[in-house]
Amino acid sequence: MIHARLSPSGADRWMVCTASVRTIEAMLERGELKESDLEDEMREQITEEEILDQQLNAYSDVVLDPTRESTTFSAEGTVLHSVRSNCLVFGEEPHEYVGRKMSDDGFDFVIDDDMADRLVPGIDWIREKTPNPIVEERVSLNDWLPGQHGFCDTYWLVRRTLGVSDFKNGVGEPVPVIGTRQLRLYALGGWSELGKPPVDNVLLNIDQPRAGGMKFWEFPFAELLEFGDEVKRVYDRIDRGDVEFAPNSKSCRWCPVRKTKRGCAAYNRWHIMMLGIAVLDIANGDPTFVEPAQMPRAHRYYLVKHAAQIRAWLAKLHEESLAAAIDGDPDPGSKAIEPSGGRRFFTDDLMSETIVEYALKDSAFKPKQLIGFTEIDKLMKPGRKKKGHPVEYGQLLRLVDVTEGKPKLVPADHPAPAYQRAVEDDFDDQPDETIEDDFEDQ
Ligand code: SF4
Repeated sequence: MIHARLSPSGADRWMVCTASVRTIEAMLERGELKESDLEDEMREQITEEEILDQQLNAYSDVVLDPTRESTTFSAEGTVLHSVRSNCLVFGEEPHEYVGRKMSDDGFDFVIDDDMADRLVPGIDWIREKTPNPIVEERVSLNDWLPGQHGFCDTYWLVRRTLGVSDFKNGVGEPVPVIGTRQLRLYALGGWSELGKPPVDNVLLNIDQPRAGGMKFWEFPFAELLEFGDEVKRVYDRIDRGDVEFAPNSKSCRWCPVRKTKRGCAAYNRWHIMMLGIAVLDIANGDPTFVEPAQMPRAHRYYLVKHAAQIRAWLAKLHEESLAAAIDGDPDPGSKAIEPSGGRRFFTDDLMSETIVEYALKDSAFKPKQLIGFTEIDKLMKPGRKKKGHPVEYGQLLRLVDVTEGKPKLVPADHPAPAYQRAVEDDFDDQPDETIEDDFEDQ
């Protein structure tokens, strides 16, 4: 019998990296992990990696504050989930919450127009589908995963179509709906809770306002049952110990094993292998890197795609190496040295300001700087329940121009349409042989 929680939100891990389940159980027993460490996987979070990921993704119009900790993003997601749930259950509107203070995990939020706007399309769509959705309910997965359950945002059954909708507040990475294991498990659980009625179709929806918007996947119910059979087979393999480590971005993303002090050997080997593709020689002195133009193209994009993850991994290496040196057991070739001086700060801000202002007059202050476009939109743009500054905002819009954007590199399954090169310009500007090369590459 498996004791660990096989949660729907962790399905991308345990259905692929089957060895992670017993590894987590063993770490819990040894005290290397706590139950609370497993919660990350069950909550929606935005990590440092995701913030870095924005550099690679197309959602640069959404600005995250990198000084906010991942837990505050997570808490904001929880608060918005509860507004969404109240609206669906009690017939309220998200904008009725604007100005209201709500809290989660010790973080306070005041609901603003922007937050309320995010919730509207998903709520409206669910209301079109059904007047009576089942909201934030525990669903049993016992028939597929003995002793397991999940918490489903919203599900319903109307005219033999089983619907599931899941709200995601994240920004950094669009969560694809097609192929989602998490929502298929919710659908199985919801169907089971409804008493296994006859169903023809399944309609899954990920409502991710800041990364792809409303995403849908509809398929015949028979395919859901096939998925249920696959889930049972995975459970049996884990139960009898026929398991393997299978590191990959999706599985490892929230896995608590890699976050322990010891980390995950399979995960580390995977990164070294990824970097090994790019490093020519690590035996002598500084490593030599392969020229990007000479790398196999699939390898090159593999590294680009995982750049944020590699950066986070390198940061962790640095942290561990420094910790070892501070503990008196430095990695060969390294040592920790005395701090070169900490950051200075005033113990009395007001008194310090008075002294500096007395001495320097106007030079005591930095020049004023205009706030950015996102902040301007937030404070000046009129909204459904926000007065804003409509006259000035209109005047300002006439003074806004946009620079020519640069194409961005994103995964091939990204929802935005692919960039189209201006073919005529190519014919005008390029010698004939370059054009032939382009055709060969496509
Ligand atoms: S970190 Fe990745 S490879 Fe290691 S146990 Fe977790 S999911 Fe598996």
